[in-house]
This record gives sequence, structure tokens and C-alpha cells, in this order.
Amino acid sequence: MKYAKLLLLLLMLSVAVSAQKRAKPILAEPGVSFKLAQHRHATISNVVYDINLSIPESRTEAVTGNICISFSLKSVDEPLQIDFKQDASHIKNIESSDHSVIPTVLKNEHIIIDKKFLKKGNNKLVISFTAGDAALNRNNEYVYSLSVPDRARTIFPCFDQPNLKAKFLLTLTVPKNWQVLSNGSKTQLIAPVQSNNQAQYVFTSTDKLPTYLFSFTAGKYTQVEKNIDKYNAEFLYRETDSAKIKLSVDSVFSLHKDAINFLESWTGIPYPFKKVGFVAIPDFQFGGMEHPGAVQYKASSLFLDGGATKDQHIARLSLISHETAHMWFGDLVTMDWFNDVWMKEVFANFMADKVTEDIMGTETFNLKFLQDHYPSAYAIDRTQGTNPIRQQLDNLQDAGSIYGNIIYHKAPIMMRQLEGLMGKDNFKKGIREYLKKYAYGNATWPDLIAILSKYSKTDLYSWNRVWVNQSGRPVFDYKITYSGNKISKLVIDQQAEVGPKRIWPQVFNLSLVYDDRIESVPIDMKEQQILLTSVIGKAKPLFILFNTDGMGYGLFPADKAMGEKTFNLESPLARASAYINLYENMLAGRTYKPADLLKLFQHGISIEKNELNLRLLTGYISSIYWIFMTSQERSAASLALELDLWSGMNNQAESNNKKILFNAYQSIYLSAEAKDRIYTIWQSQQPPTGVKLTEDDYTALALSIALKSDTVTSVLKQQQDRITNTDRKDRLNFLMPALSLDERERDTFFNSLSVQKNRAKEAWVTTALAYLHHPLRQSTSFKYLPKSLELVEEIQRTGDIFFPQSWLSAIFGSYQTKQAYQTVTDFLNRHPNYNPKLKEKILQSTDNLYRAQKMLATTN
Ligand SMILES: [Zn+2]
Repeated sequence: MKYAKLLLLLLMLSVAVSAQKRAKPILAEPGVSFKLAQHRHATISNVVYDINLSIPESRTEAVTGNICISFSLKSVDEPLQIDFKQDASHIKNIESSDHSVIPTVLKNEHIIIDKKFLKKGNNKLVISFTAGDAALNRNNEYVYSLSVPDRARTIFPCFDQPNLKAKFLLTLTVPKNWQVLSNGSKTQLIAPVQSNNQAQYVFTSTDKLPTYLFSFTAGKYTQVEKNIDKYNAEFLYRETDSAKIKLSVDSVFSLHKDAINFLESWTGIPYPFKKVGFVAIPDFQFGGMEHPGAVQYKASSLFLDGGATKDQHIARLSLISHETAHMWFGDLVTMDWFNDVWMKEVFANFMADKVTEDIMGTETFNLKFLQDHYPSAYAIDRTQGTNPIRQQLDNLQDAGSIYGNIIYHKAPIMMRQLEGLMGKDNFKKGIREYLKKYAYGNATWPDLIAILSKYSKTDLYSWNRVWVNQSGRPVFDYKITYSGNKISKLVIDQQAEVGPKRIWPQVFNLSLVYDDRIESVPIDMKEQQILLTSVIGKAKPLFILFNTDGMGYGLFPADKAMGEKTFNLESPLARASAYINLYENMLAGRTYKPADLLKLFQHGISIEKNELNLRLLTGYISSIYWIFMTSQERSAASLALELDLWSGMNNQAESNNKKILFNAYQSIYLSAEAKDRIYTIWQSQQPPTGVKLTEDDYTALALSIALKSDTVTSVLKQQQDRITNTDRKDRLNFLMPALSLDERERDTFFNSLSVQKNRAKEAWVTTALAYLHHPLRQSTSFKYLPKSLELVEEIQRTGDIFFPQSWLSAIFGSYQTKQAYQTVTDFLNRHPNYNPKLKEKILQSTDNLYRAQKMLATTN
């Protein structure tokens, strides 16, 4: 009773406070607060941005411009806040249609326009400014803007929130020989405008877009145009390798075509934007970004050559389908606020998987789905820092920390379970209704659940609570009783791995494996515990395999009796599911110890023929080897593993499989013989029979030689001379000091990362960090750990959305000692009020370390 009374009192208090707050003007605080966004959404409409930007060739000269913001105001009861994350020196002039001079007032990243300069109805403000470089990604020969989630406000003044969609007009003045691409179509070219060798491009008005989807690219690119069905598509790239160009450009167009066709027919809505366009950016910090008409991709994901594996081809198809799916999911219907950013990501992944299924067949799809999503989702959901799919977000400046494996990988698993629960047809009907209802607008997850509920017999609200609003996974167990040689009872049970008691309703299969057959049993896990009556009386199996269809989510039992028989299972999906279960159980301290599991997986090298599975298996081998074995265990296992990988490579028939095993060999080798062998391959550029190695592969070889040798010093320099493409030359140049034999040079490199501009190429930085902190170098890089943790907050402030996570993973990914883990706990103890979202990221990225130091302490 006391508790309830207190609650009531608190409730009354908060009502009073919020009533009081409503009367007060909204304070200008850093970032974009939810409160400000809500208020602007209620009072501002009909926004049009007319942006004029002048981009000099030299990176040191500022990008200048002006913007005309037109909008309607419902009422003028307080000053207007326009987001602009720069200091006042970046604003030259502000005027409106009625006032030729409006004083510049800049407060906590907002331009404040006094009420007297505003009117009810239509307003027009013109602001001349100098753009900040943070989101412009300026390189020597090209620049590209990337505004997600709230970085448009670092480039130009705007209302930087997803639910104030606007039309964008853009004029770009750029060096004369540069190509340009933006959301709208390029309409004219006046060259040169002045004597300074510049050209001006005007783009047509866009459809209604949120600020995070506005983008442009300009630079020295090759431009190709093609018709894909009824749409004209533009493609910009900087690739110079003629083999890659020949093998990739047409495929990239046709993969877009396939994805658009599939999505048009699945959604029943034609491609929603006026233009199709995309650009391949060297070392782009994400896989891709879905700006309509100006999609950005990581160049190396699009340009494949003859040496590319099946996996790389599927990954490219998946990436293009993902970004194309965003045109409907995210771009046409946008989240209301970034707390629902996972919705656009889950649908993009979910639809990309459907395109893959359509093109590659159901079997490959199911296998790919399992391998793409489960290990990555578990990698976070099993940690102390895991988060629910749907999270709260009070200020857009923290939006970056919401991204991660849970929204990219657990959410698609949840969505597939939801589709299974509702039935494919009902699910599709619901999604179509949702897209139609909110087209060119915004919607929340509850808006979607409300629509889906109409098509579902199950209570989606309680289902939603466990799967979407809470974190974690269930642990499954079973008890089987035999009477004679027959099953008399089988009970399956689920418990939360951590946290409060709850049930994850879900469906999956289990298999009773016999010498001559496998019997599949469907499980509908609605309760904490189920008694499986359908198996009573069946013969005693060799072993029971859980989650054979890869649908279920959680930690499933791995029967030790499986052993080497695992590799004889006929279904590639069942084998992959078994590998994942075995690995997850090892991490949980059940079934196998690391060294024993390594031995088991090593046995599979010569038996497993499925390319995707072989990749999964060798990935696990490499993780166990470097992270979960002591250096003594590693030395003891190394030679036999080298031999098995090498002979496995020779025995595999498919060239992709050979390459996977060659890559694994390259990852684990330590012996003098292997060192000579790898060096000879690199130097002579003669790959092992049947293996195709590309320039990128030789660069990777050179890097591993530099890492593992204490005598060879010139390999990286020689490799650099071999490379002709300037972007790839620059990358290797950046990585070289991180691999130096000289510890002082590595120290200098690490220290240089404290300066923001040295972290600008995030993909380079994370690669360099992974080499810097390779297990073979940890005795000297251990000292960088405290400083690396201290930098995380700044990295979140200054870097792109995935950077804090990738920074931490690259650094902590392969540590295993108590001392390393102590550094992490010391840091967290020293900062009791640390940003909770970043603390989660730290706990997520150090989970392997947490487990390894515990496990290895008990082994020794
Ligand atoms: Zn996406």
C-alpha cells in the first residue's frame, strides 16, 4: 500500500511538473532533444531547404554557402530554434523576407530567431554560413556528405529531426573536372562560372525527405548511366582496376534492378522516388547508406574480381538489396524518432534476405540467414551490456549509440518469428497497409503493431514485450527418460539466461538422429516447459540435435554424443546450426573446453564442403585459437592445425573453399616453414594451385608477413610499390606504422589517434588497431588500453555511428588476460557516472575477454 501511495504522489507531482513545463519555453540545450523535436513537429510544417554550396578543390579551404529555409508556423509563442552545430564565426548573415538583418544568436548548437522576426503562416529565412567539415568527408579528390543520424546540422542550419520532412533544392559549385551526385537530378551545367575553373550544378527538387537522408557527392569519379527497366540510373566510382570494372559495373546495375523489381512486387508500391543513383566510395565507413537517388556504398563491396568468393557475391547482393529496401522502409515511411531506427534496419535486412531467397533459393537463404544473424545477435545478447531492440532516446546527439548488432541481427530473427506467428500472407497484408498509410510520412513501432494486430490471432502486445522491449535470450534444456530402448518422456524447458523470469514464445525443430535416418520434430515453445508427447515410444536416438531448422533463438543444448558425427549430417543448415550451438556452449562453459572444440572443428576442415559452412567453421577455429587458448595450448596445437588446413585446402575441389582454407592458414600460421611458404607466395605472386589471389589478398599477405616476422622489414614498402590505385596506396601507407617492427613507431602511431583528424578514415583506423592489438603484439600494446577507453566518449562525439563499437572491438577483440580485463573494470570503476549507452558498448566488446580470462584461469 505504501508503495502505491508513493507512486500516486509521484504521479501527481509529475503531472504538475509537466503542466508547468508546458508553459515554459523550450530551453536551447545541446543536440536535438525529444522535447524540442516534438514541439517543432507540432508547430512547423511545409519545410523547403534551398541550399547553395561552394566546394573548393583544396581540403584546407572552407566550404561556404547559403540556405533559404521556407516553412509555415502554426503560432509564434516563442523563439525559433534552428539546429547548427558550429560556433558563431560560421554564420555570416541572417535575413528574412521582412527583415534584412537578423542578429546572430547562437546558443548550445542552435540559432535562435527571436519572435519579432517570425510570423504565423509562411516564413522565409536566408542564412549565409561556412559549413563544418565533420560530415563532409573531404578527401583529396572527392567529398561526400553523410548526415545520419544528426549530422546535417554540422553542415548547414536545419531542423535536424526525422519527422520534419522537407523538399531539398541544391546548387553545387565544384572544381570543373569533378562529377556530382545528389538526391535530385542534375539539371544544368554552367562551366566555368567564373575564372576559377569551377562548374555549377543545379539539382531538381527532391521528394519529401528527412535531413538525415539528404546527401551529395562530388569528386573525380567515373560516371556511368544505364536504364534499368523504366528507371534511369547513375553510378559514380573511383575504381581503376579494369578487371574489377569489367566484372562488376553491369552486375551492380542489374542487382539494383532485381532488388527494385522484387520490392515493387512484394510491397505493391512502385519505386517511391524520382531518381535511382549510387556511388562507390573507397573505404566508406559503413557498408552502405540509403540516401534516395544517391545511395553510398563501400567500393570494395561492389567491385569484385575473378577471385571473389561466393560469400562475397552473396554479401554484395545482400548489401544492394538492403539499401534498395530502405527506399520503402525508412525513406518512404520514416521513423518518427531515432528510437525506432531499428525498424528501418530490420525491414531492410528482412527484405534483403527475401531478395536473396528469391534469387538464391530457399536452402541458401535459410543457411545465410542463420549465419548472418545468429552468431552476431548472440555476440551481444549474451553479454552483460546487451540492450533491447527498442530503446529510449532523449536526445538525438546520442542516436549513434542505439545502432548495433541487436538492431541489425536480433531484430530480423524476431521479425521472422513474427512472420511465422502471423503467417506470411497476413504479415504481408499488414506491412502493405502500413506502407500505404504512412507513405512520405512517419510512423512508430506501436503504429505498426496496431496494424499487424488486426491481422494476427496472437496477442502481439505481450509477445512484443519480451522480444522487442526486453533484452537477453533463453537457455534451453531437456530431460529425456527411456524405458528400455524407447523414449518414455521428453521435457523441454526454457529459462532466461540472465534477468527476470520470462518466456520467449517461438517455434523451431529438433531432430532425433539415428544411424540410418533423422526424425524431425516441430516444437511450439509457448510455455516455460513443454512435454513432448509426439516422441513417446520412439526408438532411442544416437543423439538429439536442437534447432535443426535454424529458426529458434537462444542457447540450445549441444549433445556431446554428436562429436564427429556432426560433420556427417546431410543438411548444411543442420550442420551450421550445430556448429553455432557447439561454439555458444563452449562460451557458456558447457559441453566442450576450447582446446577440445578446436580439435573437433579441425576434424571438420576436410569433411565440410559447403562454402558458407566452411567459412563459419574456420572463423570459429581462428577465434578459439587466438582468444580462448593459452599461448602454450596454441603452440601445442599450431603445427597440426597448419598441416590440416594446408592439406584440407589441397583436398577441397572448389576454388572458393580452397581460398577460405588458405585465408584460415594465413590467420593462424606460426611455424618457420609456414613463414617461408607465405613469404614465397607473396614474393613470387604464385598462389597455391587452384587459389585465386587478388591485389587486396597480396596486401593482406604482406600485412600478415609484417606482423609475424621479426626480420623482414621491406615487405610493406614493396607491396606499396606494386599497388597502382591511389586510394589503396593511401590505405596501406596509413596502416604501415601500426605494423612497424619498431615499438616506438607503433607508440607514435597510437598516440597520433588522439587527434581527431588522424581518425578521419574510420575503416583504416579500425584495421590498424586490430593489427596493433594482435595477440602477437599484445605485450607491447597492452599499455594503450587505458587511453583507448578514455577516448571512447570523444570518439562517440566526433565519429560516425558505428565507430565507438568498431573502435572497441578492434582493440579488445583478442585480449584474454586478467590484467586486460582489470583495465576495463578499473576504468568503469573510475567513471561511476559514465554514459550508460557507452558502458553497454564497452561491456559488449569485452565479452570475449571477460569469458576468456575466466576460462583460462580455470584451465591453468
Ligand atoms: Zn540500413
